[in-house]
Amino acid sequence: HAKDSGRNTYRFYTDKMNIDAMERLRMRNGLAEALLKQQFVLYYQPQFDLHSAELVGIEALIRWNHPEKGLILPDKFIPIAEQTGQIVPIGEWVISEACRQAKAWQQQGYAPVRVAVNLSSLHFKRGDVIKMITGLAQEHDLDPQYIELELTEAIMLQDVDHILDIVKTFKTLHFTLSIDDFGTGYSSLAFLKRFRVDKLKIDGSFIRNLEVDTHDLAIIRSIIQLAKGFNMRTIAEGLETQEQLEILRREGCQEGQGYFFSYPLPVKQVVKYLHVAPGPA
Ligand code: C2E
Ligand code: MG
Ligand code: MG
Ligand code: MG
Repeated sequence: HAKDSGRNTYRFYTDKMNIDAMERLRMRNGLAEALLKQQFVLYYQPQFDLHSAELVGIEALIRWNHPEKGLILPDKFIPIAEQTGQIVPIGEWVISEACRQAKAWQQQGYAPVRVAVNLSSLHFKRGDVIKMITGLAQEHDLDPQYIELELTEAIMLQDVDHILDIVKTFKTLHFTLSIDDFGTGYSSLAFLKRFRVDKLKIDGSFIRNLEVDTHDLAIIRSIIQLAKGFNMRTIAEGLETQEQLEILRREGCQEGQGYFFSYPLPVKQVVKYLHVAPGPA
């Protein structure tokens, strides 16, 4: 009987693995087609200064406009794109499109706004990420000061000196650098001391229950104090309530992004948050 159940377990797992492999293959083909047929689209979520309420930036977030399934959120396809390596060309498309859009807004007479893009750690492993990003900025004639690169703590698992060199080069070129989902990953304080990034994005999981959870309060307080000591800014992601806003303000967090202010919006709707550039005197 033990043997039987062992075989059943084995069979169960092979079946499951076959389904996963099939599904992955289908996804891989779907993603390749999406790139070719330009089915990806960027949504934009505004970020605000918590004290002045000024717009400080906009994060570009990818969606897949699937011909049959409609709008698919990144959590459904980015992890697979990471596994297949397709995140590299997809990420290039994101950066190119974000640069094009940021430049287009300027040409339409809006005051320049910084657009943040999410990078995958694979970009740092494959090819020349500096050349890729500076090339796209040049192609769209967009000043690097209007591009923010969001890194995840996962990149810290790679060769530190290699990553440090890249980060330093981006800084020298005047890109803005931030660490996304901060507090959930692998960054040690020693790494942070060496990575001179501009901004820590406090992960939304610490904001969600901030009104009632004293441990979350302790965490956000530590992150904000740490950032202050390192001369970095902090932005709270997933900010949903007035009470969260007040706590974050009180604790000295400078910026926020979340449904409280705005959902991620299609281009047409996000322009209402942009300012008109002052005309020639
Ligand atoms: P992220 O970079 O941390 O982006 C923030 C996510 O939180 C977004 O989810 C956003 O829609 C969501 N969000 C914003 N405000 C709130 C709020 O008040 N409450 C809650 N509950 N959620 C909020 P989204 O757009 O589904 O993206 C999920 C993740 O997918 C992103 O997390 C990012 O890691 C990844 N991603 C998105 N676009 C790209 C991309 O172009 N490239 C790469 N590599 N990853 C991307
Ligand atoms: Mg992000
Ligand atoms: Mg984030
Ligand atoms: Mg997040």
